[in-house]
Amino acid sequence: MKRIYDYDLKDLEEYVVSKGYKKYKAKQIYHWLYKKRVSSFDEMTDLSKDFITELKDEFIIENLTLVTSQVSKDGTTKYLFSLTDGSLIESVLMVFDYGYSACITTQIGCNMGCTFCASGLLKKVRDLSAGEILNQIVYIQKELDKKGERLANIVVMGTGEPFDNYDNVMKALSIINDPLGIEIGARHISVSTCGVIPGIKRFSKEKVQYNLAISLHASNDELRSRLMPINNAYHLSELMSTLKEYSKENNRRLTFEYLLLDGINDTEKNADELKELLKGMNAYINLIPYNNVKEKDYHTSSEKKALMFYDMLKKRGVSVTLRQKKGDDIDAACGQLRANYSKGN
Ligand code: SAH
Repeated sequence: MKRIYDYDLKDLEEYVVSKGYKKYKAKQIYHWLYKKRVSSFDEMTDLSKDFITELKDEFIIENLTLVTSQVSKDGTTKYLFSLTDGSLIESVLMVFDYGYSACITTQIGCNMGCTFCASGLLKKVRDLSAGEILNQIVYIQKELDKKGERLANIVVMGTGEPFDNYDNVMKALSIINDPLGIEIGARHISVSTCGVIPGIKRFSKEKVQYNLAISLHASNDELRSRLMPINNAYHLSELMSTLKEYSKENNRRLTFEYLLLDGINDTEKNADELKELLKGMNAYINLIPYNNVKEKDYHTSSEKKALMFYDMLKKRGVSVTLRQKKGDDIDAACGQLRANYSKGN
């Protein structure tokens, strides 16, 4: 069976024409999928019975099943889904003052090997298809539909490296962004990379300009290579010059994510180095409390230290924000719920 969410409007048009139907039928299906958000072909009442039968023979709509979910005191909801091949993925719904934000997964496991991250505890098994990425958003939006609410924001920051699954991620985002699709504005969609330079270069040429976030987490090469093996392939100097090019072309503000790792990257020296790194860039640093991972020997900086580091950066003229902690009473860290579930905890 094929996944209908893997088909964008153009693919659907080709499909319906190949079956001898008029091209506009594709738009009807698309509308049922993304505006009405139906779960079965039988609900597509403006299609003929025969056409519905043909669609049912060839396609599935939903390609994920909820295995379990956890709701945090602050309203953060973490979903564990199983895909049609039994693989497990997670998605997270967060509530902010500006609205609902969903964090989605792009790969089963991850090969980037960041030493602090729970996702890498389970190596990459495969990439998610566009439809498997998209279904996470459709699922969450359907949950919100029950309350008459809308997703305001999408962050591609779940398990996986989006630029290691570039085409499928972009195809999913194009349907999420499409006014005929889920219709979430590009400015409300962010993609986070650990620093895959060829991906950043491609991304800078995209017609639709989504936000770009870079997981920086270190202020010099020696430390970054220790924390993030990707830095051995793409050094900081090359990363920063690529990002400067990106900024010039797109005139968009970059986000640098910076985990607060106690005693590792939160000193005066780090603040000095960050100031130098970001000099002249249209960018800000988002300081993120580290969600402790049992298997890892890292700890988040204390609240006091986090504020001190925030002040150090402010004093140096660096644009900086301190992210509020979300869902720390549930398995909130990237890949944690899935890793724990897979171990049978
Ligand atoms: N591969 C991409 C996107 C997935 S990771 C990237 O590296 O950006 C999403 C973000 O979560 C990254 O900034 C990552 O470094 C961070 N992260 C990983 N483990 C974490 C943890 N235990 N606590 C908080 N953030 C974590």
